[in-house]
Formats: sequence, structure tokens, C-alpha cells
Amino acid sequence: MARRVTVNHVHSELPAVPGAVRMPEHRVAISERGSFCFATCTCGWFSPARRSRDLARREADDHLTDNGAAPG
Ligand SMILES: [Zn+2]
Repeated sequence: MARRVTVNHVHSELPAVPGAVRMPEHRVAISERGSFCFATCTCGWFSPARRSRDLARREADDHLTDNGAAPG
């Protein structure tokens, strides 16, 4: 009689040091390509190409706000 043993590997993905958790960095930049502008972020996010630089900047601000980072 074989008994089946199930082993669950439980590993914590939390950092062991309290207070070491930091927010992912969001730094946006407005790039221009031809007559289009778009915002890019260091986290990998980018806005669609816009004809208006103001609109791209506003979307960048929205992205920062959505992610809890202060626009600036
Ligand atoms: Zn970002």
C-alpha cells in the first residue's frame, strides 16, 4: 500500500526586511516624433501618439495620478 504524500512548496515573495518596500518609480517624459507627441514612463507605460503636446502631458499626469505618484 503506497501512500500518496503531497508536498506544498510555500515560499514567501515578501521582502524579509520591513520598510524596504519601495514604490516602483514613475518618471514620465514627453517625446516627439514628427508632428506627434507621446508620453513615456520609466515603468514601461506609454501613451498613444497625440498631435497635442498638452494632451500627452495630461495623459502622463493621469498615469502618475493613477499610480499614486505625484505629477511633476
Ligand atoms: Zn509609470
